[in-house]
Amino acid sequence: MIGVVNNQIDKNTLELLGKANQMAVKIQTQVCLFIIGSKELKVDHVKDYADLTVLMLSENFGRFSLYPFLINLEKAILKYRPSILLSPATTFGRTIMPALAARLRTGLTADCTDLDVDDKGNLLQTRPAIGGNVMATIITPNHRPQMATVRPRSFSVQPEKREGRVRIEEITELEDSCELIKIEKREPSAQIDQAQIVVSVGKGLRRKENTQIAEKLAQLVSGAVGATRSVVDAKWFSHDHQVGLSGKTVKPKVYIAAGISGAVQHIAGMQTSEIVIAINKDRYAPIFKVADIGLVADAYSTLEQIVKILEDESDA
Ligand SMILES: Cc1cc2nc3c(=O)[nH]c(=O)nc-3n(C[C@H](O)[C@H](O)[C@H](O)COP(=O)(O)OP(=O)(O)OC[C@H]3O[C@@H](n4cnc5c(N)ncnc54)[C@H](O)[C@@H]3O)c2cc1C
Repeated sequence: MIGVVNNQIDKNTLELLGKANQMAVKIQTQVCLFIIGSKELKVDHVKDYADLTVLMLSENFGRFSLYPFLINLEKAILKYRPSILLSPATTFGRTIMPALAARLRTGLTADCTDLDVDDKGNLLQTRPAIGGNVMATIITPNHRPQMATVRPRSFSVQPEKREGRVRIEEITELEDSCELIKIEKREPSAQIDQAQIVVSVGKGLRRKENTQIAEKLAQLVSGAVGATRSVVDAKWFSHDHQVGLSGKTVKPKVYIAAGISGAVQHIAGMQTSEIVIAINKDRYAPIFKVADIGLVADAYSTLEQIVKILEDESDA
């Protein structure tokens, strides 16, 4: 059995179920979705993406807290015994999966960007390694379950086609030792992982003030502004905007890379974008290798021209 774990039913869950389904067909096994979360969660629209959905819902599970979630999830995993267990590399997955792996005395490959399975049922867990300079494929032949967290947007959602059974597990209510101090809302422009169009800036924009043109363009196309690590290190934007190995993975319809060299660590976070438009004054910049449209030009003035055209059009 291949298990997918999450505390909500979102696009990440469907992406992982899509991949789990492909692998399940290959090794002739079942797909099980483990949902642990609020009593309000509804599964009718997703149950057919799995053979079995196991629900662990409680009115106390509206907010994620490690200990109660961990103990209940461990109980379910020991009951259903999936040989593979996947979770998205979100705050939830990145927190619960290592703790669960430790309790189950197995390993965990964090932040995978690709997965496959061989004919012996070994999970091939691929992720960037050595500062993103190589892609490593890791296997866990001696321990079960084989556990991995997977970067959101690594896979696409596949059509549902499974048995769609649902089972409700009894919850062990445990005291929550975490105290909620405050909730800080994220600034809307930083939601690069949700945007259909991402305008990303690199050091080729030369000055922080010049990045306003990228913000203007993002605003005009209802997109979001991304950034390279160099730009974030220079404090032009917060880390929330960083695309890449140590930032976020994005998969927009259009990714505009303005003044970005195209280091492997940056490409790791944007290469699955549908259309990549690169603007760089160096015709040999590596970003052009992953670009669908390449402009050898000054980044600032090119963005300025695009903004002008869009503004003229909206005035017309
Ligand atoms: C472990 C590790 C993790 C990392 N994680 C990330 C990550 O998550 N994300 C990330 O982005 N990086 C990451 N990096 C850093 C990465 O290696 C690069 O240093 C970084 O991406 C470079 O950013 P940049 O393209 O803005 O700057 P540069 O490499 O300095 O490139 C600037 C580019 O702008 C071009 N340019 C200059 N002037 C103009 C102009 N007027 N018009 C147009 N183009 C111009 C230049 O030709 C050049 O190609 C990581 C590195 C390590 C070691």
